[in-house]
Amino acid sequence: MPSTMQDEPLSLATLLRYATTVHADATVRTWTGSASRVLTYRELGAQAARLAHALTALGIERGDRVATFMWNNNEHLIAYCAVPAMGAVLHTLNIRLFPEQITYVANHAADKVVIVDGSLVPVLAQVLPTLRTVRHVIVANGDAAALHAPDGVAVHELDTLLAEFPPVLDFPVLDERSAAAMCYTSGTTGDPKGVVYSHRSNWLHSMHACTADGMGIRAGDRVLAVVPMFHANAWGLPYAALMVGASLVMPDRFLQPSPLLELMAAERPSFAAAVPTVWNGVLAAVDASPRDLGHLRAVVVGGSAVPAQLMRAFEDRHGVRIIQAWGMTETSPLGCVAWPPPEIEGEAAYAYRVTQGRFPAPVQARLIGNDGAELPRDGRTVGELEVRGPWITASYYSPDADTIGSDAFRDGWLRTGDIGTITADGYLTLVDRAKDIIKSGGEWISSVELENAIMAHPDVVEAAVFGVPDEKWDERPVVAAALRTGAEVDAGALRAFLADKVAKWQLPERWTFVPEVPKTSVGKFDKKVLRARYAADQLDIVAPDSGATQMSSGAGHDD
Ligand code: ADP
Repeated sequence: MPSTMQDEPLSLATLLRYATTVHADATVRTWTGSASRVLTYRELGAQAARLAHALTALGIERGDRVATFMWNNNEHLIAYCAVPAMGAVLHTLNIRLFPEQITYVANHAADKVVIVDGSLVPVLAQVLPTLRTVRHVIVANGDAAALHAPDGVAVHELDTLLAEFPPVLDFPVLDERSAAAMCYTSGTTGDPKGVVYSHRSNWLHSMHACTADGMGIRAGDRVLAVVPMFHANAWGLPYAALMVGASLVMPDRFLQPSPLLELMAAERPSFAAAVPTVWNGVLAAVDASPRDLGHLRAVVVGGSAVPAQLMRAFEDRHGVRIIQAWGMTETSPLGCVAWPPPEIEGEAAYAYRVTQGRFPAPVQARLIGNDGAELPRDGRTVGELEVRGPWITASYYSPDADTIGSDAFRDGWLRTGDIGTITADGYLTLVDRAKDIIKSGGEWISSVELENAIMAHPDVVEAAVFGVPDEKWDERPVVAAALRTGAEVDAGALRAFLADKVAKWQLPERWTFVPEVPKTSVGKFDKKVLRARYAADQLDIVAPDSGATQMSSGAGHDD
């Protein structure tokens, strides 16, 4: 029996129209290093309409890809609004990829236009001759004349271009299942793979982000999106903010701890989001020079495991509540968010807050064992996490009907490559990524658990743990730690600190001290780089004074 409901498509054009009229006075504010450039949502709507007209005049049609190569800023948000609303596809290029990866990704997506920030023109210029399908480059916040484009590529200046077109547009009616945006994974494990979001998936994801058990974004919020707009659409924050009329605060290229603190002092965001390494840096800076962070009602942190120590330090010393979330580019990205059950508060809540989070209704999750069978959700049994739902990708983008990454899908489920447990009441705890877990003497060592235990030491700023081949045990962990300035702790002391926190056979016997742990293009510990440096003998490995031989005391690690 058909329903009687109207079949109104869930389109980002509707979202834009709503935000720019009903919430016309909400703002997006971009930090310049000393003040913010402010755009009201009313102006945002006008600029987005102009850009849509301009892109149409440049020959962009429905389904064509328009790339951005930009920081988080006002102009990037204009592109976020205009491109999907006119029926084209917004492709957010990761500005931190290696040049050959940028070439691969832009050619693979067949981008026709690149909108580039003036400060990033030199980076784009290096790869532009290798971008086979790009016909137009639009320079925002910069001098278009500074870019010498190859033959066949026209260069425009954003403001000049926009001034030629009217600020009003009737956006077309779009199929809600058509492509709205695309994003490539950061390529930690091979070539980046493309995920294409639909209007419908973005819409539903935004609605979830605005629920109290999602990210709780609401009108009146000032949402600081530190997470880049090229990293899984800034975790959905821009569209979520538009959906409820929350204002946005954008850091542009000012991503170091001190400028972020200045930006926060000036704009007093009520909500913020970024990966743990960013908050680690902010914590050190705010510890060194305390400031009022009381304006932050919550900070969502994800992308890699959030050390419990980081949550406690922010809460105890600065009154800031950090909420962990888990997700992937493939999951739009919100998978689960670690809000404790409302009746559980204070210390008891940490048992829930240190998990990766609780799955919401739209995200179905299951754990699968080595034999492919589903495992119980008892909070103990460990398996590979598989998910499905309306904002989870069903495949990777492939222009030639080939099967890129098809082994990541099983019977309509996305195989996440993450290993963990799920409780009966839906909380996920990740043990590790399958490729990072260390297989030692037939047992597993969780690199994440070791990292968190080591980072709980007050002298440790960062610690990454990675597996290396070992003749006797197949693999053993190596710790790469960055210490606080002036700290005198050594490998022996750190190993002793771990002694009552992890099993004896897990205690690492190889340590290296680095000024900073290398990071991926989205700010996660780069274990691929660490493994390569280890293999090339470029790391200064030290053994703790005691215990290096003790770890092997129990055959098969049975102590
Ligand atoms: P990439 O795969 O290129 O690193 P993503 O941001 O899509 O880019 O990474 C998703 C992965 O990040 C997840 O599969 C998981 O391994 C990890 N991750 C995300 N959030 C968390 C979290 N809260 N705790 C632990 N790992 C996380």
